[in-house]
Amino acid sequence: MTFKEFNFKNTLNQAIQNAGFKEPSPVQKESIPIILDGHDMIGQAQTGTGKTAAFGLPIINMMSGDNGIEALIIVPTRELAMQVSDELFRFGKIVGYKTATVYGGTAYNKQIERINHANIVVATPGRLQDLLKSKKIKLNPKFVVLDEADEMLDMGFLDEIKNIFTYLPEDRQTLMFSATMPKQIKKLAEEILKNPKSVTITKSERTNSDITQKFYVVSDYERDDALLRLIDYKNPTKCIIFCRMKKEVDRLSSYMTSQGFKVAGLHGDMEQKQRERTIRAFKQGLVDIFIATDVAARGLDVNDVSHVFNYHIPFDSESYVHRIGRTGRAGNKGEAITLVSPNELRTIKRIEKDVGTKMISRVVPTRQEVQSRKDSNLLKEIAQTNITPSAIELVKELQHDIDIVTIAYLLASIIQKEVDVKGKDNIGLNQEEIDRLIERNRNQKGRDSNHRRGRRGRNRNSSRGDSRRRDRSHRRKRYKS
Ligand code: ADP
Ligand code: MG
Repeated sequence: MTFKEFNFKNTLNQAIQNAGFKEPSPVQKESIPIILDGHDMIGQAQTGTGKTAAFGLPIINMMSGDNGIEALIIVPTRELAMQVSDELFRFGKIVGYKTATVYGGTAYNKQIERINHANIVVATPGRLQDLLKSKKIKLNPKFVVLDEADEMLDMGFLDEIKNIFTYLPEDRQTLMFSATMPKQIKKLAEEILKNPKSVTITKSERTNSDITQKFYVVSDYERDDALLRLIDYKNPTKCIIFCRMKKEVDRLSSYMTSQGFKVAGLHGDMEQKQRERTIRAFKQGLVDIFIATDVAARGLDVNDVSHVFNYHIPFDSESYVHRIGRTGRAGNKGEAITLVSPNELRTIKRIEKDVGTKMISRVVPTRQEVQSRKDSNLLKEIAQTNITPSAIELVKELQHDIDIVTIAYLLASIIQKEVDVKGKDNIGLNQEEIDRLIERNRNQKGRDSNHRRGRRGRNRNSSRGDSRRRDRSHRRKRYKS
């Protein structure tokens, strides 16, 4: 199927072609005809599936362009507001539509000025409510979209949203998009949508099969070591490391910088300008590691993120889905790596069940494994390098005093320092230990339901003690990750 079949205006078809879109994504195939038919709609699909174009294209196609603001898109964060308006702008500009972006932290007057000249407004709830309440703007849109509704709920915007809708005309087409559908979102849908059609991209399609999901069991104090070892081993083009708190982002950023990595931290307290600059640096590849909190990285759309690391496993399944959705975008392969401590294994099980996905356990590679991989890469690189004139000069110079073999050894020693793998030999649990832990967790569950509380603690402690003793007598068996 192609975009032609929607019978969009020629200019819009041209814009789609310019954007390089060849085939509509599943959520686009299903949503676009419904929206073109004038129905309200509720759409559920994972991040990165093309929801923006799913509502943006049919809306732009139906707009007349001659009576002010015709479309209002409400999104949870400033980053998303910018992303969505960028995406709509590339489709809208060829038709001649103007987009205004409205969010907190910038001057009111400029925004109001832009709103007055726009056809499409993309706004975050807080600022939008301010403007409507204070009667600084009046909106009469034919199309209203609530994007990433579950994020709005998580961020505590539910009341603002309900209030905003009291200022909007009854006669409108309303669309709602969400990656997940918690109860409160379904209830909100009943309040703001009229006889909506639903589009659900089913669970198996929702878990992006381009993303490999792995977890590594480590002790809390080993997290830093494990993270650096894995980055060393996997050699990501770009990666995002997720932390739970801003404090952790700051600490990890300075630690990794001290270890020679090019990193940037991203969290909710940063000034808007600084955030934009940081994201741009990441997109352009000036920084290849992002350390972020959930909120800061919401909706972040960077196409070549090869790895997502969860420094800690997130508390809820929805954040997990959002986090790992930062990789494997636009048809690329991605890898999501989660560090867990032994007692977080149950969180893994819960997320697997909620999301309908499978995470595979792996062992952190040993120092020697990483070293030999790096050494063999170095050999390849040496074999493929072209000799430069200045190198010939340098070796000539050295040959006055040193024989050629010694020169080679010396040069190799200099390069080798660069690929030296640091840290202890073994990090985290080995495969047998992980398997045993999983097995124990399973038995634990059985016991929990048979026995009363008092005994549980004792059982757990004693079984842990036993296995520690056993662990020592085992040779650590390791599998490639
Ligand atoms: P979502 O809102 O579902 O998270 P987005 O709308 O942000 O997803 O789209 C993710 C990325 O995929 C964007 O860079 C977008 O330009 C691109 N994209 C969307 N639809 C298509 C398509 N049909 N073909 C190619 N790329 C697409
Ligand atoms: Mg989106």
